[in-house]
Amino acid sequence: MGGKSSLPEAWLTREKQQLHDRWVARAEIHSRRVLEAFLEVPRELFVPVAMQTESYVDYPLPIGAGQTISQPTTVMLMLDLLDPQSGDRVLEIGAGSGYNAALLARLAKEVVTVERHEVLAKQAETLLQRAGSRNIRMLCGDGKLGAPDHAPFDRIIITAAAHVVPQPLLDQLAPGGTLVAPVGETHGCWMTRICKNPQGTLERSRHGRFSFVPLV
Ligand code: SAH
Repeated sequence: MGGKSSLPEAWLTREKQQLHDRWVARAEIHSRRVLEAFLEVPRELFVPVAMQTESYVDYPLPIGAGQTISQPTTVMLMLDLLDPQSGDRVLEIGAGSGYNAALLARLAKEVVTVERHEVLAKQAETLLQRAGSRNIRMLCGDGKLGAPDHAPFDRIIITAAAHVVPQPLLDQLAPGGTLVAPVGETHGCWMTRICKNPQGTLERSRHGRFSFVPLV
């Protein structure tokens, strides 16, 4: 997993820029901050060493424990919907490789991320340190319970397919906050955004169908 890439850095930078430019040309990703974070974070650190040449190919890659790092376009679409602000406290469920947490750490003030597989949590923690992310707290446990000791959160993102959005996560979302999650089956789940208005009412919207490993 991860580690310093032995590939020519310039080559990876070109691959990354091409993916970025495609999103801009097709108007797929709108937030300038999200696009900048993508250019800043080395995805190659978070993929298996043997697959580093595929770091900027647009498909998911295995990360161990039967889990995957989502394909870059999906990661960026979710961040675009989440729209984290620089002063925000963010909760992520499903740290996986740590890549999305590294992006969130660039976009927000503080990130709490929960991963149920201890081996992945430890690996991600090491890689996040290597990536220089300091404002992330890694918790190992069941993300369906959220992180009550650290709540409330301005933004919550679930990076695994949930049959329903767990109630504790809705409770831990601050008024005015936004939650983004794939909801439904592994294949064909709906990308869902839930906004909690200042009075506490929830408004849901759907943003296309995706495939995700399940939230268990
Ligand atoms: N965000 C990750 C990709 C995550 S894949 C990245 O950037 O690489 C989804 C992750 O959710 C997997 O690592 C899986 O172990 C984790 N997961 C599934 N159910 C969970 C639960 N109930 N609590 C915490 N993590 C969970």
